[in-house]
Amino acid sequence: MKKKKKVRLAGTTTNTTPVFLVKMFEPRKGKGKVVVRKLELEATQSLLNSWVACRMKCKYMLQGWEPVAQKASFRFGNLIHKILEMLYKRMMVKKPTVSELENSLDTLVSKEMKAASLRRASPGDIESERLEILKANALMHEYINVWKGDLKKDWIEVEKVFNVQFGDKWHLKGKRDRAFKKGKEIWIQEDKTSSRISEEELDLRLSFDAQSLFYNVAKRLEIIEEGGNPDAVKGVMYNIVRVPGQRWKQVKKDVNGKKLKTPRLESDKELLERIRQEIKEEPEHYFFRYEVGFPTEAVFEYTEELKAKLHEFKLWLEGKLATYKNESHCTGRYRCEFLPVCASGGKSFDGFSKSRVLFRELEE
Ligand code: SF4
Repeated sequence: MKKKKKVRLAGTTTNTTPVFLVKMFEPRKGKGKVVVRKLELEATQSLLNSWVACRMKCKYMLQGWEPVAQKASFRFGNLIHKILEMLYKRMMVKKPTVSELENSLDTLVSKEMKAASLRRASPGDIESERLEILKANALMHEYINVWKGDLKKDWIEVEKVFNVQFGDKWHLKGKRDRAFKKGKEIWIQEDKTSSRISEEELDLRLSFDAQSLFYNVAKRLEIIEEGGNPDAVKGVMYNIVRVPGQRWKQVKKDVNGKKLKTPRLESDKELLERIRQEIKEEPEHYFFRYEVGFPTEAVFEYTEELKAKLHEFKLWLEGKLATYKNESHCTGRYRCEFLPVCASGGKSFDGFSKSRVLFRELEE
């Protein structure tokens, strides 16, 4: 028998002049007026990060391509983010009680459950989303109780969108999770959600985390614009939330411990209770925080690096530096969402759509 061989032809996707440059300066019609986009002067941490990771990826992002289906791992992180935003916004307005926060969480979760059941998705997808919502519910009820000390903190911003001038050419844009005051000190708080967290790795990596340093620099510049003391910004408090791995399991015994004739699947309520119980028994496994102080010298050192990165980024945007693939970034801990696109030689964007919004993460 003849063996079938799958052959894929390598494509050419590398352009010396990125296509988006043309798009960027295309006048767009707004409400009766022509709007010229000047994206080359704006940078977010995620855009810069993608450029550093792979220029091809950054090019696709700037062209507005994004996957139609949200990755399940992002979906869970986004849900936790949404819950945290709601909780801390409530804490900013007034000091709620723990039970008031838990009630708000229940309301948000039931809305999410209803929305998920109405979405047109495959049965498998509906089930995995239901599981995520159940896990988020259990996790965040315990979170509220574990970190109830947050109710007393002096929160000065939650989900603040910033846009500050950096040097004479650039604007740094972004959205910080939140910040609080501790005496005269200002601390930025950033959330990180993951199922695989190596504390040892985190400990080493967070001391030069580019996102936090970027936010730090932006906060300092904001304070300077307001006429305050930038050195009040002391560092970042990382709020780590570990994703529980549980899912429905088979129930083999009844409440009295008697063996069931036919094992049944755990109900949603039973699963929720079990996850909550397991988190209660080991809260430090699911929730922990790192305070990383960034001394002024560290911020200055990063500022120099940022200037150098932005300088090269601008050269690339102007077509003076080539666009090439960074093959070492395609797979690994996370799979690049553009892998099928690159595999097709940049010809097929099946499963992708083009968005007009570049900095979607900054949308309210
Ligand atoms: S798949 Fe690889 S080469 Fe293609 S954009 Fe992603 S990281 Fe770059």
